[in-house]
Amino acid sequence: MNGLIMDYPLTVPAILKRAAQIYPEKEIVSRLSDGRITRANYGELYERVVRLMNVLRDLGVRPGDRVATCAWNSQRHLELYFAIPCLGAVLHTVNHRLSTDQIEYIVNHAEDHILFLDKSVAGMIAELQPKLPQVQHFVVMEDYSEPPSAYPTPYLDYETLLASASNAENFPDIDERAASGLCYTSGTTGDPKGVLYSHRSMYLHSMGVCLADSIGVSERDTVLPVVPMFHVNAWGLPYACAMTGAKQVLPGRNLLGAPIASLIESERVTLTAGVPTVWKLLHQHLKQHSYDTSSLHTIVVGGSAMPASMIDAYEKDFGIKVLCLWGMTETSPVATISRLRAGMSDLSPSDQLKVRAKQGIPLPGLEIGIRGDGNEVLDWDSEQVGEVVIRGAWITSGYYKDERNLNALTPDGWFKTGDIAKVDRFGYMEITDRKKDVIKSRGEWISSVDMENLIVQHTDVLEACVVGRPDANRDEAPVAFVVLSNERPHEAMIEEIIVLLGTHFASWQLPRRGDFHFVEALPKTSVGKLDKKVLRARLEAGLSE
Ligand code: ADP
Repeated sequence: MNGLIMDYPLTVPAILKRAAQIYPEKEIVSRLSDGRITRANYGELYERVVRLMNVLRDLGVRPGDRVATCAWNSQRHLELYFAIPCLGAVLHTVNHRLSTDQIEYIVNHAEDHILFLDKSVAGMIAELQPKLPQVQHFVVMEDYSEPPSAYPTPYLDYETLLASASNAENFPDIDERAASGLCYTSGTTGDPKGVLYSHRSMYLHSMGVCLADSIGVSERDTVLPVVPMFHVNAWGLPYACAMTGAKQVLPGRNLLGAPIASLIESERVTLTAGVPTVWKLLHQHLKQHSYDTSSLHTIVVGGSAMPASMIDAYEKDFGIKVLCLWGMTETSPVATISRLRAGMSDLSPSDQLKVRAKQGIPLPGLEIGIRGDGNEVLDWDSEQVGEVVIRGAWITSGYYKDERNLNALTPDGWFKTGDIAKVDRFGYMEITDRKKDVIKSRGEWISSVDMENLIVQHTDVLEACVVGRPDANRDEAPVAFVVLSNERPHEAMIEEIIVLLGTHFASWQLPRRGDFHFVEALPKTSVGKLDKKVLRARLEAGLSE
């Protein structure tokens, strides 16, 4: 139609070029394995990306090709985040903490011809090399870590390639609907599944992340993404920071309490993001040691539910706001976020906390719903519980080259998330379980997430995980695995936890005394989430004691 607004392509190179033009001096800080810090800015990043694009071209990368990365959060990984899509190729971030079988599956399934890797994973990739026949070039990114047990042979050196590359700028025109990224799910059941992102979806997702009522990344922020760049796009933060000109602090591979605390202090970090496990460790560390965390205004948490008690503890102990979001590989990932809305400041502190611990409302550009077993639409009344479905501008329409697609969408085209939730009348979603983790007792669902959150409210509990076991009378019965933070007699602990649980659960829903297991640590997935299938397997094998 005449006079219609311009059709401007929403692409990754547009993000990069603007960052270099408007914020050339803003810093990108990267911590190496040995603790040393490197500094660059968006102007320098742009120049290195241009040269890296020429390296990729010389290695034979063509538009549409998938190029793999196996790397921690670092400046070099950020360079790849831009150079690969700017060339029209597909940035395939590989979660190198998956099992080697899964990595083999993922790299072969994606048909990666080039694999960029941190020196710290060189030994693992070298071992896998015979099983990766399609990979023609391995490019190692040094980061001064210990010498690896082996290197893939032959391998190329990242900095050597960059030093000899042309600095001629040559950005191809890119269709915003072309693929820009690829990430596989963790594959907790079956083989991992690939999700292919487009330039447009990544651009819109990044804008969504920047909105004030979303994560709200701003130019004035210094952002520390603890969430890995090798999984779910580091929640869109690398692009969102470049979009807004925020300083980025990339922490490398050491993500325990002390290294994170010292980066927050030394770089004056204002906003950080990661899974609950990281924040539990950091909280413990900050309680025992003295750091200046006064710059930090927000910790963004997602990937698993953050217990309300931990949200409260950060605010009370350190004046730091915790912001919960929900998403998955298939949703780019950021999909819902829980901030209090205007009228809610009148709620009591405990009611405010309840809202903030929910997974929240969908970002503009997305729609959520809950569906019953027959795909019927359930009401948003805080009561009805069903599977979360979602659609929108950065939601997958099906998996990459995968016949499991047949099951991915509802008949009316919404993506089925496999998460079980209820939604309140304001649109705040509250996840009660993953479909495969649901405990069904006497025909009713017991929320393992609610149970875990109550157990960790006990001051002597560090972590808890609840799974179901078959039970002759109740169909399934909950079993609690508990990690204590202090030495305490187990009998007394069980009594105290049962009292806590009794405030929310009916007595027939509670775990029996024999169904409490005190353990040293809980099994975690490659991205730090509780691995319930391992616990269920232990129970089945009778090894829980
Ligand atoms: P996977 O590869 O295991 O699917 P994802 O990182 O994509 O890994 O995980 C997505 C899942 O993580 C969601 O489906 C949901 O079950 C869980 N999840 C993510 N964010 C939250 C949250 N804030 N609260 C509870 N669960 C969450």
